[in-house]
Amino acid sequence: MAIPMKFICDDNLGKLAKWLRTLGYDTLFFDPIQDGELVTRALKEDRVVLSRDTQLSRFKFKLGEDLLHIESDKPLNQLKQVIEYFKLKPNKKLLFSRCSVCNQPLEKLEKDIIKDKIYPYVYKTQDNFVRCPKCDRIYWSATHVEKMTKTLSEHRII
Ligand SMILES: [Zn+2]
Repeated sequence: MAIPMKFICDDNLGKLAKWLRTLGYDTLFFDPIQDGELVTRALKEDRVVLSRDTQLSRFKFKLGEDLLHIESDKPLNQLKQVIEYFKLKPNKKLLFSRCSVCNQPLEKLEKDIIKDKIYPYVYKTQDNFVRCPKCDRIYWSATHVEKMTKTLSEHRII
């Protein structure tokens, strides 16, 4: 099986970074970040640079195919461009497997452990909980997940 692609977004592309993480792709994003540092990290960690900033094309000689200039201002169109350009096939099983805020893979949680941390209504109505080991956010399949899934399928991304 091919190793999944990893990305680093420039500091204009925070929303794109969140969408890529939502799809399960390991995606770094720092705001702000110097161009030089971004390129160094990309090379060191074997990441593809996604950039809205044409200035970064001066690093093309270093990055080669691992640099994509993002055309649109709209996050979902940006996501589509990345998926189409690299012929990615997002895996539904990896959807919501990574924290959209800090890029960490999420861990499954037994719901009894978090009973005191969540609203009783959520505890009663939800069964699948995951937690980010870094920021401690707890996620569950509530309506926002359904909404995001709907948005992705409307844009024919999943
Ligand atoms: Zn997190």
